[in-house]
Amino acid sequence: MSYKYFTNKECEYYPCHNLENINCLFCFCPLYFLDKCGGNYTVLENGLKDCSKCNIPHSENGYDYIIKKIKENSIKKETEE
Ligand code: SF4
Repeated sequence: MSYKYFTNKECEYYPCHNLENINCLFCFCPLYFLDKCGGNYTVLENGLKDCSKCNIPHSENGYDYIIKKIKENSIKKETEE
């Protein structure tokens, strides 16, 4: 176990997804506000993203994936300015 991965079996919502192993580090996905997050979300009629079928933040490599996406997005914004 490391700071990149842990499971909180004491959480009242555990297990929140039908996964054998769940990374609880990002309970709420930091990529929610990115259109190009890379996850398999759908958009509801009210315009909100439905991420219920995406397991990226709860995967073993979720931390690395999310940090990489945040860096890519930051670099893209800097070059646009
Ligand atoms: S949970 Fe998945 S689909 Fe939703 S914002 Fe995060 S990466 Fe994208």
